Amino acid sequence: MDSDATVGELREIVAKFVGERDWEKYHRPKDLAMALSIEAAELLELFLWEQDRGGAMDERLAEKAKDELADVMIYCLSFANAQGWDLSDAVKEKVRKNEKKYPANEYRGVARMG
Ligand SMILES: [Mg+2]
Repeated sequence: MDSDATVGELREIVAKFVGERDWEKYHRPKDLAMALSIEAAELLELFLWEQDRGGAMDERLAEKAKDELADVMIYCLSFANAQGWDLSDAVKEKVRKNEKKYPANEYRGVARMG
C-alpha cells in the first residue's frame, strides 16, 4: 500500500527486476525517456475515441489504466535508478518550483497555464 511503501522500496523492487534480467545496459536516458513516454501514450490510448464519461471509468478500464500508470511509474523509478538521482528530492524541488510558478492565490480554480 502507498501508506506502507517508500520510494526507496519501490526503487529496490524495480532495480531487482531489471538486474535479474541484466537490462541495466539498455537503460540509457534516451531509451528510458522513450519507454516512459510510450507507457504514458498507452495510458492515453485507453481513452482514445471514447465518449466523454464525465470522469468515470468502469472496472475494466480502471484496471488497464492502473497497469499503464504503474508502467509509467516503473520507468520513472528506473530512470532515477540509472542516473542515481534522488527522486523524492527531485519531486519536492519541482513542487517548490511549481508553487512559485503557479501561486495558489492566482491559480486556484484556474486551469490556464502560464
Ligand atoms: Mg504498458
